[in-house]
Amino acid sequence: MFFNDTIIKKIVQLPTPFYYYDVDIFELTLQKAITASKKIDGKIHYALKANHQDKLLQILAKYNLGADCVSGGEISKALKNKIPSDKIVFAGVGKTDDEIELALSEKIFCLNVESIMELEVIDSIAKRLNVVASVALRINPNVDAYTHKFITTGLSENKFGINASDINITLDKLKTLKNVKLIGLHFHIGSQITDFSVFKNLCLKVNEIQRFLSERDVYVNHLNLGGGLGINYTHPDEYLFPDFEGYFKVFDEFLERRKNQELHFELGRALVAQCGALICKVVFKKKSGEKNFLILDSGMNHLIRPALYEAYHKIENLSKHHQVVNQLYDVCGPICETTDYFGKNVLLPETERGDIFAIRSAGAYGEVMASDYNLRGYPSVYFSDEL
Ligand SMILES: *Cc1c(COP(=O)(O)O)cnc(C)c1O
Repeated sequence: MFFNDTIIKKIVQLPTPFYYYDVDIFELTLQKAITASKKIDGKIHYALKANHQDKLLQILAKYNLGADCVSGGEISKALKNKIPSDKIVFAGVGKTDDEIELALSEKIFCLNVESIMELEVIDSIAKRLNVVASVALRINPNVDAYTHKFITTGLSENKFGINASDINITLDKLKTLKNVKLIGLHFHIGSQITDFSVFKNLCLKVNEIQRFLSERDVYVNHLNLGGGLGINYTHPDEYLFPDFEGYFKVFDEFLERRKNQELHFELGRALVAQCGALICKVVFKKKSGEKNFLILDSGMNHLIRPALYEAYHKIENLSKHHQVVNQLYDVCGPICETTDYFGKNVLLPETERGDIFAIRSAGAYGEVMASDYNLRGYPSVYFSDEL
C-alpha cells in the first residue's frame, strides 16, 4: 500500500506543495526489476532524466545499477552520487563539445551516437584528448511504440537516432575514424509503452539489423534496448510494480543474441514513477455553470505532464480518505494558463478548502520538470523514511 492512515496523518500536517517519495517502494521496485533482469543477465542503466534526487541515486548506486545520462549535468550528478563511470552511458541528440569532453575524460562506458556529424566531432575531441571513444550507434528502427505522439521517438519522422537506411554510410564513415570504437547498438523507441508486442517488434527489427551487420563482418559486444516500459497510472495501488518479468521475457524470447553479447536496458519511469506523489492543498472551490472547480496550490509549474501531453494521474483527497466518492470536479492549478489542470471530471469525495490532495504516480518526469513559472517557487521534498 502506498498510503495508510499512519502516513496520511503525517503528510497532511506538512506545508504544501511538496513531492513525497516512498523509499521502501522505490527499493522494492528496484529489487523486482533486478531479479527479473537477472534471468537474461540484463544490465540496467537508470535514466536519470526521470528523477535525479540525490537520495534515490544513492540507493540506485547501492544496488549496483548504472546510469543513462542525457547531459553533462546528469553525468556529473551520477558520478557525485557514486554511480561508477564505467556504468554510465551518454545519450542525447545535442551533445555539446564540453559534454563530450567530460564524458571522455571521465571514461564513461559508452556514448550513444545519433548522427554522422556527431561521430566526427567525437572523433576529433577524442583525438585531441588522445583517447579512443567507445560508441554505440543509436538506430532509429522505425517501430511504432503506440504511445502518445509526443513521447514516441522511434519513428523515422522523429529527430532521434540514425535512420536504419543510413547504417551503411555510417559504417563506412566509422572505418575512416581512428579515435572512435564501435561497441554497441542502441535503440529507444518511446516512453510509457504498455503493449509488449511493441517490444517484440523492436526485437525483430534488431535481429534484422544484426544480420545486416554480420554480413558486413561487424560485431558489437552489447545491445542497448533503451527504456520505455510503462506503468499503470490509472490503478497505481493495484499495479504498484510494473511487469518486469513479462518485459524481460519478451527480449529473452525474441531477441537473437550473438555470442557473449551483453544486453543493456535504460529504464526510467518504470523504476521511479510509482514511488512518488505530488502533495498539494485545495485553495478554493468554485462553481461555473455545471462545472465544479477545485483550485490547488500547485499545478503545471510542479507537474507539467497533464498540460504537456494530456497525461492522466490519479488524484486522491487524503483529508477525506475513507469517505464516499460521489462528486465530480475539475482539479486545477493556480497558474495563469488554460492547460493548467490535473484532471477533468474527477470523481472525489465532497471536498473543502484546505483539504490535502495527492497526485499519484508522479515520481517520474515530475519534480525534474518543475519550474518557477509565475514565481510560485519550487516544491519541497519529503522522503518516507524521514517523516
Ligand atoms: C528517456 C529515455 C529513457 C528512459 O525512458 P523511460 O520511458 O522513462 O523508461 C531511456 N533511454 C533514453 C535514450 C531516453 O531518452
